[in-house]
Amino acid sequence: MTGRGLEPVRGRPLFLFLDYDGTLVPIRRRPEDAVLSRPRREILRRLSRRTFVAVVSGRSLADIKGRIGVASVALVGNHGLEIACGARRWRHPGAEAVRGDLGRALAAVRRRLRGCPGLLVEDKGLTGSVHVRRVRPGRRAEVEAVVRDEIGRRRRTLMLTRGHCVLELRPRLAWNKGLGVRSLLAGLEAEGRPFVVYIGDDATDEDAFRVLRRDGVTIRVGGTGPTFARFRLPSVREVWVLLRRLERDLRPGP
Ligand SMILES: [Mg+2]
Repeated sequence: MTGRGLEPVRGRPLFLFLDYDGTLVPIRRRPEDAVLSRPRREILRRLSRRTFVAVVSGRSLADIKGRIGVASVALVGNHGLEIACGARRWRHPGAEAVRGDLGRALAAVRRRLRGCPGLLVEDKGLTGSVHVRRVRPGRRAEVEAVVRDEIGRRRRTLMLTRGHCVLELRPRLAWNKGLGVRSLLAGLEAEGRPFVVYIGDDATDEDAFRVLRRDGVTIRVGGTGPTFARFRLPSVREVWVLLRRLERDLRPGP
């Protein structure tokens, strides 16, 4: 994105939304290893003092909060199903209502795939992740079949989505990261029409690119396939070049 790309921000309040895995930190084989470095955390801290910054993730709010650790950064967790912004906390009531079904589905997946090397089943409260990155490729079809079967048994309340080497069990709701962002924006009092910058790397970010297409600038990190985003950046490294530059440009004048 060039300086000209930022020109429309003039006169409109900037709202920066950043995906975490694959956008702010490189994807790791083990999700727990995706750690934000201290210098980068400080960049987010300074940015969040100058403009609105939110991190949007498929991780649970508690997980992402521990990884960001900057109180002035708003958080959108579980693919938009939970939000923390200042003192405001919100969880999608439809997702809360089907937590029992989600817990039972995850327990069944764990039980049926016990002994599958490398499999990681993660209960994130409002959604669940079945990570197959460390599962031998030859066994991934079996994992997916089990997950599909357990979702099929609860198809009125749950659905399946896919990310990078992860199967996500989610409440069957017409909801996504983009609608979570919209809901957060609606609760804020912006002076003038918000100018939204959304950066993400994954299929789940495509929902946000679509929802936010007319609200500002959308940027897809990596990948070569079709995207709803207006711009692309090749990797996490260039995301930080952009964020550092934004941080400088937004620095208050003397
Ligand atoms: Mg991502």
